[in-house]
Amino acid sequence: MSEQLTYLIQSLDHNEYSYEPEVVSNHSIDWRKNFKGNASIVIFPKSVEKLVNVIKKCNEKKISVIPQGGNTSLVGGSVPLENSKKFQAIINFKKLNKIINFDPNSFSIQIESGCVLEDIQNFLSKKNFCFPLSIGSRGNCQIGGNIASHAGGTNVIKYGTLRSNILGLEAVMADGSFFSSMKNVRKDNTGYDLKQLLIGSEGTLGLITAANIRVFPKPLETRVVFGTFSNIEDLLNFYSKIRVNYHDLLTSFELINSEAMELVIEKNNKKRILKKSNFYCLIELSNFTYNVDFFGQIEDFFFKSIKNTEDFIFSKSYEENKQLWDYRELIPIAETKVEFCINHDISIPLDKIGSFIRKTEKEVSLIDECFRIINFGHIGDNNLHYNIFSADKKKNKKLKQKQSTLNKIIFENVNDHGGTFSAEHGVGQLRIEELKRYKTSFEVEQMRKIKKIFDPKNILNPKKLF
Ligand SMILES: Cc1cc2nc3c(=O)[nH]c(=O)nc-3n(C[C@H](O)[C@H](O)[C@H](O)COP(=O)(O)OP(=O)(O)OC[C@H]3O[C@@H](n4cnc5c(N)ncnc54)[C@H](O)[C@@H]3O)c2cc1C
Repeated sequence: MSEQLTYLIQSLDHNEYSYEPEVVSNHSIDWRKNFKGNASIVIFPKSVEKLVNVIKKCNEKKISVIPQGGNTSLVGGSVPLENSKKFQAIINFKKLNKIINFDPNSFSIQIESGCVLEDIQNFLSKKNFCFPLSIGSRGNCQIGGNIASHAGGTNVIKYGTLRSNILGLEAVMADGSFFSSMKNVRKDNTGYDLKQLLIGSEGTLGLITAANIRVFPKPLETRVVFGTFSNIEDLLNFYSKIRVNYHDLLTSFELINSEAMELVIEKNNKKRILKKSNFYCLIELSNFTYNVDFFGQIEDFFFKSIKNTEDFIFSKSYEENKQLWDYRELIPIAETKVEFCINHDISIPLDKIGSFIRKTEKEVSLIDECFRIINFGHIGDNNLHYNIFSADKKKNKKLKQKQSTLNKIIFENVNDHGGTFSAEHGVGQLRIEELKRYKTSFEVEQMRKIKKIFDPKNILNPKKLF
């Protein structure tokens, strides 16, 4: 056993670490299997004190620390580097998973960072509350990972971003010092808000150990409407209409294009439940006050507002809600069944989405007519997942060769349309070049300076973001 390994595990219990090659290897590969690193150990600290102890040792010996939650990052943020010359230790938070305090009177919950998102949702649901974050990876991802990657998901349209719902935060910093700003107040105007720097820092500034987060009353009933649109403009106009009519009863508005829908039907053996169309939207409306005929009112509104050429389905139960949501949530799973797919997670101002889609599609098809575009996303939040695969498997080699050309087309168009190259997945290892290209040099320089202040020895998630 190496000297560093012996030193690191000295104060840990046997069930707080593993250097078994199989265990380490499982934690060293990302969800999409695009990034595989070579760490020497995975540590599962059971308490903040144990974590502090380990981080102090890592800082002293300049050991690279890879913070890891549920390892569902789609940008290679949560796995070690492939060719690092440094000793790399993964710190996985799954054993720091207590619900510390739920306060229904102040609508907040204090949780340790290793709590799995779905467990928090289920805990709150039983108490008639809901958590303001919902993402497809909810069964695996942890709240610490959600905060560090500033996850978005399907409910931002209703509850706002995770950042806007975090009241307090605790973290262990690179030198082992403990940062605590575990407030339970809505207003705190006391100078620089350091916790904001940790939110979205992707494990490069500190290790998040706990948070205090706002919660909301659970809707009394929720209805899902799934429908077709022949063009994106009609879909976006309908979005405006529904937003005006239902404002904060609208809890999700998701877009799915025809390629995404066909993929889900084919790869996940789903039934075709709507007539074939260019675009589909999945709308979730929630009733928070006792409203006698919420469902009847929704049907009335839709029948008055949509063209009779469109096809719409209305859920009638919680079970049917889930069945309709499946068509949206199974898209990332369907994509993993395609031999090769290039993924992008972008944001475009709503009024420019139509122009972006048309221009980019034309430019992609000029490279090869077999290249197909999967569009889906949280369109109410301007967020579009823009992924490319080849309809002809023989063209996969060409698709790989053209990857950087295609990325350039997409990101230049995103930039020209006033959008961003990463809407919710973050930067990780995947989007380092784009960060340098599309952020101003002032921003990049200041980010580097902040990193140096928080982590002068560069031990926390090195070579992620920059
Ligand atoms: C099927 C599927 C659907 C998804 N849908 C969405 C979606 O709708 N919206 C969305 O935003 N994302 C989505 N994602 C991406 C991913 O689930 C989110 O980014 C999620 O927030 C990551 O959480 P995690 O616990 O898995 O973190 P990890 O993947 O383990 O880590 C993510 C980043 O956070 C850092 N980190 C983890 N824990 C800590 C900690 N305690 N302290 C400091 N740093 C830490 C890691 O180093 C890494 O940089 C999806 C992923 C999958 C596989």
